[in-house]
Amino acid sequence: MDEIRMYDTMSRELRSLPLGDSGQFRFYVCGPTVYGPAHIGNFITFARFDVLYRLLKLAGYNPFYVRNITDVDDKTIRNAIEANESLSAFTEKWTVQFQEDCETLNMLVPDVEPRATGHIKEQIEMVQALVDKGHAYVGGDGSVYYRVRSFSDYGKLSHFDPDALQQQSTTSGGAVNLADEYERDSVADFALWKARKDSDGPVFWESPWGEGRPGWHLECSAMSRKYLGDNFDLHGGGEDLCFPHHENEIAQSEAATGKPLAAHWMHSIHLLVEGKKMSKSLGNFFVISDLEEKGYYPAEIRLAMLGGHYRQQFNFTVSGLDAAKSGLSKLESAVEALLESAGLKREDWGAFVKPEIPENWGIFKNAWAAFRNDLNTPAVLGALFNGLKKARKNANSPQEAKASLVSTGALIYGLGLELFSRPTAEQDVSEIPSEIQKLAKERWQAKQAKDFNEADRLRNFLSEKGWLVVDRSDGYSIQPKP
Ligand SMILES: [Zn+2]
Repeated sequence: MDEIRMYDTMSRELRSLPLGDSGQFRFYVCGPTVYGPAHIGNFITFARFDVLYRLLKLAGYNPFYVRNITDVDDKTIRNAIEANESLSAFTEKWTVQFQEDCETLNMLVPDVEPRATGHIKEQIEMVQALVDKGHAYVGGDGSVYYRVRSFSDYGKLSHFDPDALQQQSTTSGGAVNLADEYERDSVADFALWKARKDSDGPVFWESPWGEGRPGWHLECSAMSRKYLGDNFDLHGGGEDLCFPHHENEIAQSEAATGKPLAAHWMHSIHLLVEGKKMSKSLGNFFVISDLEEKGYYPAEIRLAMLGGHYRQQFNFTVSGLDAAKSGLSKLESAVEALLESAGLKREDWGAFVKPEIPENWGIFKNAWAAFRNDLNTPAVLGALFNGLKKARKNANSPQEAKASLVSTGALIYGLGLELFSRPTAEQDVSEIPSEIQKLAKERWQAKQAKDFNEADRLRNFLSEKGWLVVDRSDGYSIQPKP
């Protein structure tokens, strides 16, 4: 087994990833809250954990991956009521959309994708255990709160001092809702179980503390315990989850079980888009279909995402997508040349892309080392391109070419890049039905006439038929949807 070293948020150092007695590497990643389409910032986090999953498979860690779906919280309830749909119908729709987007980006499906609403019983049991042990109490509003002061290790992950929060909130005046303070013994305390409110509409469950719903932090503690046990090998998520979400998970789980929750903690730093924090008002808020409509294919989006290291702030840009577009073409032509030298065809490539590593990495040794050194994907890509350049010069014999294909196939599996998945340019013109061409032309004319409603209607219609219209500076082009 090849060693993987990763930065651990709790100890703040690079450490060898543990492989316990179970012979399995068990890890948990906090998944999406399904109240709308996930955006590029969410997906870069999930793509990085997907690469970790693939790397663990390659390196022989035998991973078991759990990523939850948050399908009950303030946002899902509020948006379901606004949409006039039941919570389950509403969250199902966005769960399916999320899973489809993950598939589009060639992410492997986790071993388990548990949903919060499917584990109410486990969550109530954990609250009960915490109440029994004196770590939780019923507040003035009927909700159950976690008593942060009862857990002396609180703050050990994020290196946060709970006393600071207490002081800050009592001296800063107005920062804290005072009415809320009476419900809890301390402002640092957080809700494990939320008593039913009018704004929850029809969303509630019965519990020993009356009607209500679980607090957000609780689901991950209950579901990780169910699927991975009291302690497991790695826990991860976006950097914003480190505090308070993960800190609260640790407090809940460790107080309930008496064991350390996870041996290793991994957090993915958020991206900037075009140099700025992503926001709807800045127009740099992208979901996957926005990028597809700009004419980028999923493999290009994925390659662009992997151009940044997960612990450095990454600037996601349109010029980066353009660079990924040509980078992917370079990768494809290098692989094509190797296939030819090995006496093989493009159809044979798929057999090389699998979670198996070669006995000898040869000229791709540095790429594999970069992979195992804190998941350094930009360095992996650099070393892969270098290796392919060398291979192109060296590959005289079919055997040498084949050895390079084996190494490249393993690295491409790890990165999760789908080569040769884009339609070729020739396909475009000859295979577009005349009806589609006619509608695209009508859309263009509507747009020129500033009839944007009609133009949008036609674009959506074409999209439903499986065709993308992409505007260019000198007109438009039609592409089959990726
Ligand atoms: Zn979580």
